[in-house]
Amino acid sequence: MTQIYDYLVVGAGPAGMAAAIEASHAGLKVLVLDQAAAAGGQIFRNVGHSCAAQEQVLGPDYGLGKPLLQAFMAAPCDYRPLAQVWNIEPHAQGFTVAALIDGLSINFVASDLLIANGAMERPMAVSGWEKPGVMTAGAGQILLKASALVPKQVVLAGSGPLLLLLAHQYRAAGVTITALLDTTPRSNYWRAIPWLIAGLSMPKQLLKGVWLSLVQRIRVPYFTNVADIKIVGHIGAEAVRFTAAGKDYEVPTQLVLLHQGIVAQTQMAQTLACELSWNPVKQCWQIQTTGAGQTSVPGVQVAGDAGAIGGAQLAQLEGRLAAMARIERTGTRSSWAKKMLYQALALRICQLHWARGLVDRLYQPAPWLSTPTGTTLVCRCEQVSAAQITDIAQSGCAGVNQLKAFSRAGMGPCQGRQCGLNLGYLVAQAQGRPMAQVQPLSVRPPLSPINLGQLAQSSDL
Ligand SMILES: Cc1cc2nc3c(=O)[nH]c(=O)nc-3n(C[C@H](O)[C@H](O)[C@H](O)COP(=O)(O)OP(=O)(O)OC[C@H]3O[C@@H](n4cnc5c(N)ncnc54)[C@H](O)[C@@H]3O)c2cc1C
Repeated sequence: MTQIYDYLVVGAGPAGMAAAIEASHAGLKVLVLDQAAAAGGQIFRNVGHSCAAQEQVLGPDYGLGKPLLQAFMAAPCDYRPLAQVWNIEPHAQGFTVAALIDGLSINFVASDLLIANGAMERPMAVSGWEKPGVMTAGAGQILLKASALVPKQVVLAGSGPLLLLLAHQYRAAGVTITALLDTTPRSNYWRAIPWLIAGLSMPKQLLKGVWLSLVQRIRVPYFTNVADIKIVGHIGAEAVRFTAAGKDYEVPTQLVLLHQGIVAQTQMAQTLACELSWNPVKQCWQIQTTGAGQTSVPGVQVAGDAGAIGGAQLAQLEGRLAAMARIERTGTRSSWAKKMLYQALALRICQLHWARGLVDRLYQPAPWLSTPTGTTLVCRCEQVSAAQITDIAQSGCAGVNQLKAFSRAGMGPCQGRQCGLNLGYLVAQAQGRPMAQVQPLSVRPPLSPINLGQLAQSSDL
């Protein structure tokens, strides 16, 4: 007989772990599925197995994940690592979640879902970004956290806290940073000034951010207000060309790590037709939620970066609050103390989102990055260039979904994750429409590649 879980959590990052701890201790039958080999999510990736040298390089914040991880591993919930969720659909008793485990597709059934699958890096479609030797800063950090691998030499390009953090971690690991190309537009600093007051509500994080930024400017060849980045080379990356303060530069390198902030992964919620909205400050699509991460679909909640980018502390609080709301629906009468805790958590979450306003404005992507031109590939999977997309958009296609049918952009293995946002920006620009009016790419399973053999052998738990 199929086992039915009360609460299925996708993602064992800070949000998913906190939710599972709360819900399982309250007596709910909880299942956590995560595609990674160990729990921790992006920030605390591999924290349970890291060596002393890795921890020293990654800094003190990394170690803060250990107590959460220990509480999660001790919680009375089922946890399946290396379980990649590729489909979610409604079921008579809630939802069926299909995950690839050991090469087999297994269906799990749960009455309620918490989507806590985090964020991905915002694609940075510059000329040559498809070449071998070009990766994202997040990928570089994953190699460092998961396998203690670092390059000998690198050029870092883009904007955002993760880029500065990686520069700091790489320097601690002895990596030569040939150049750090900061694409943050000068106008962002002015726009962020009124939000300093919000940042001051979290003085420790603000000081850390300022310090990280200043140290890189002193210790690394640092270029500000960078634009027009091009990665050149016959096959792989051989050099980066760019302009800074009106001057042209070329820096030789065989490895470029790009980063332009992170955006919520909304695809899972989209398969369930949860409503989305465009966030003009964070410049990304977000799942619409009411209190405690409740989406527009009953029984489906979202927490952490998967809902709105906010960082690990916020993710953990949102996960806990979502679980508390789920527990309340079992009919258990909450104590007075629990009700007070719920209100306090909800208040703190609002405050942390407000404080995040400073980072969101300071690191908003430069407009030139959203609208690539000419032969720059926008869809790397299907090799569709910016010029081709703009031509189709100007000829009056209805939106990104029709553009996908006309050009194949968004049909490759990444299912539009890497090109979806830029397709939207290019349609918006060509047709003079605001992004909010350009619908996001629609999502269909499989959310990640699965072969026919695996599909044919799919089984219920
Ligand atoms: C590449 C990257 C690196 C980052 N590094 C840092 C850092 O060093 N410091 C910092 O402060 N912040 C970092 N962040 C920001 C970080 O995402 C948040 O601070 C925090 O980890 C968010 O917690 P979360 O629980 O919402 O999501 P995450 O921590 O992202 O956890 C989501 C979990 O969902 C799992 N998952 C995703 N898709 C699926 C699927 N299809 N099936 C099953 N499981 C799935 C993932 O394996 C992951 O464990 C990073 C973000 C990214 C994208």
